[in-house]
Amino acid sequence: MSETRGQSGRKKKSRTRLAHAGRAPSEQFGFVNTPIYRGSTVLFPDTASLLANRGAYTYATKGTPTIRALEEAWIDIAGAAEAVAVPSGLAAIAIALLTALKSGDHLLVTDSCYLPARMFCDSVLKRLGVETSYYDPRIGADIAALMRPNTTAILTESPGSQTLEVQDIPALAEIAHAKGACVILDNTWATPLFFPPHERGVDLSIEAGTKYLGGHSDLLLGLVSANDKWARRLRAAYDAFAICPGPEDVFLALRGMRTMELRLREAERAGLEMARWLEAREEVAHVIHPALESHPDHALWKRDFLGSTGLFSFILKPVPPEAVAAMLDGLELFGLGYSWGGFESLALPFDCASYRTATQWTPGGPAIRLSIGLEDLDDLKEDLSLGFARLRAAAQTP
Ligand SMILES: *Cc1c(COP(=O)(O)O)cnc(C)c1O
Repeated sequence: MSETRGQSGRKKKSRTRLAHAGRAPSEQFGFVNTPIYRGSTVLFPDTASLLANRGAYTYATKGTPTIRALEEAWIDIAGAAEAVAVPSGLAAIAIALLTALKSGDHLLVTDSCYLPARMFCDSVLKRLGVETSYYDPRIGADIAALMRPNTTAILTESPGSQTLEVQDIPALAEIAHAKGACVILDNTWATPLFFPPHERGVDLSIEAGTKYLGGHSDLLLGLVSANDKWARRLRAAYDAFAICPGPEDVFLALRGMRTMELRLREAERAGLEMARWLEAREEVAHVIHPALESHPDHALWKRDFLGSTGLFSFILKPVPPEAVAAMLDGLELFGLGYSWGGFESLALPFDCASYRTATQWTPGGPAIRLSIGLEDLDDLKEDLSLGFARLRAAAQTP
């Protein structure tokens, strides 16, 4: 694979590494990109090789050049010792948890986590004899009080993808590691470009490649990266489940990776400008964006993160649900839907009050999450302005 350290030995900058990682043109007849290898069987040259299971590739569930190209690139980008690619972000969460846990263990999970991850813990893990308890994402070093003798993993997500609490990952890692527990982070919001997970003490880091890696709303993919300590166990869990992604999807992920930093930098700029614009709107009670000075965890974000992205939330001043629907239903550019990180902007009304157990979600008004895409910001602001006008009109109608 391409060298990410040049002749000087200096590690190249992330933009350069994103352009060069996971490519070996000389092994592909000079073609720039690693092609899509489609296959199951890998032929061995002779009986001895087959009996010894010898060769760079032995069977496609254990890897192909296309999958390995993505994994090697991600190892480089995430600063990891190992990485595996799986068919979705949720599958990445499942494989990370099953790498770290066994029957009889206790797991700590942030109350702000991605809801399907919570459902996995409360159903599958429960059935397998793993007990989950939820913690306040702002707990910091006080997590020590929740650690039990059998607590073997903490599942964090920072910031939470709807409510955007930032967690003190280095503090959590110090306490977990003192007790031999594994720190798992869902790093989908920041990506390794804006939060280098393993440098900050994370053992297993998850990325829903569906979001900013793919970047075009045409892909489902997940990645788990591991530090040295967890590398072998991650690979073993992956091999046991044979949970390999399809070759076309991996190719799309590699293609998305080449422009990921450019898109993230633009998402950062546009997201912040939109967040500040919303902060000044009279219909808005407050904006939840970690890079805004008004965010309660802003100092922590500034200490640990290298950037912010285009996903944030805002709380409307109290209005009836019909007024929110009038605003959202007429949006021309913002689509209504799940997921995020694509080129197109999305809006999502949300309410996590019903399933939180360690904290209470009491925003004081309707909550809306935005994913800012690559459209012109003036056009997006106009779309929202017209939406606010519909909201005001509907709120005034008795
Ligand atoms: C979307 C998302 C996932 C799951 O990704 P899928 O590919 O849709 O399964 C996991 N974590 C976070 C924070 C997400 O936003």
